[in-house]
Amino acid sequence: MESDFLKWLSDRLAAHKSVALGPGDDAAILQLAASGRCVVTTDLLTDGVDFRLSDVSPRRIGRKALAVNLSDLAAMAAEPTAAFVSLALPRDGALQLAKELYEGLLPLADKYRVAIAGGDTNTWDGPLVISVTAIGTPSARGTLLRSDARPGDRILVTGCFGGSILSKHFDFEPRVSEAMTLHKNYELRAGMDVSDGLSLDLARLAQASGCGAVLDTSAIPISPDAIKLSQQLADGLSPLDHALADGEDFELLLAAPSREAKRIVRDQPLDVPVTMIGEFVEQPGLWTKGQGGNLQILQPKGYEH
Ligand SMILES: [Mg+2]
Repeated sequence: MESDFLKWLSDRLAAHKSVALGPGDDAAILQLAASGRCVVTTDLLTDGVDFRLSDVSPRRIGRKALAVNLSDLAAMAAEPTAAFVSLALPRDGALQLAKELYEGLLPLADKYRVAIAGGDTNTWDGPLVISVTAIGTPSARGTLLRSDARPGDRILVTGCFGGSILSKHFDFEPRVSEAMTLHKNYELRAGMDVSDGLSLDLARLAQASGCGAVLDTSAIPISPDAIKLSQQLADGLSPLDHALADGEDFELLLAAPSREAKRIVRDQPLDVPVTMIGEFVEQPGLWTKGQGGNLQILQPKGYEH
């Protein structure tokens, strides 16, 4: 199966300026930027854990496998360059499944000019496993880490939150161009992508930076799907609860100095809204302001792996 598949795939792959040697040899050779640094991330998706092949089209699975990696590169403000795709396919219908995964993945790779520079394809008696490793190139301004927020910095987010299980968790747009635009034109201090829940990921970013965060819960952009999900489930969780705790929003969570944050919010330089939802403080932990302005602890909630 593998040689048929490689033939099919090689016809689909275009030349790419960063790939000095693509699939076909023992390893690929990448030509990266002169800065000498590259950003590497990897994600593994398994049938039965991250998706159900019986419920979702392979195209959406293939697309998502690349998109989650691009979201992590965006979180670091790195331009996606190349990706390596490894598949463990159930034996029955393996070739067809492999092609469909790629039919979902390749248009996204094209859109963000990511070279598929290599990978591996096997069949076995187990479920579908798809692993993507993506390589990115930092801009001249360097990378964006989780650990550089400072007390007084404002908390910014792109887009809106909650209810992604209704569709966005498969079809989200990785915030690549948004991250590059903000990083290029404004001073950002720290960032990550929100994959496990806004409150949990914010608590992680604050902890990595050795500070705390105060959320203005009234400012959090709540997605229409969070409202819909809250009504559908009728489990007592409000749309805000969903926005704070649901996983897989894949939006950017950023720290910026107060003046820069205000400038970004005023300029609205992206196709998606950027919203200020609070600030970083010296006191460790996650907080909200109660009536009268005193701080109340907010229990971070989200998806723990
Ligand atoms: Mg991430």
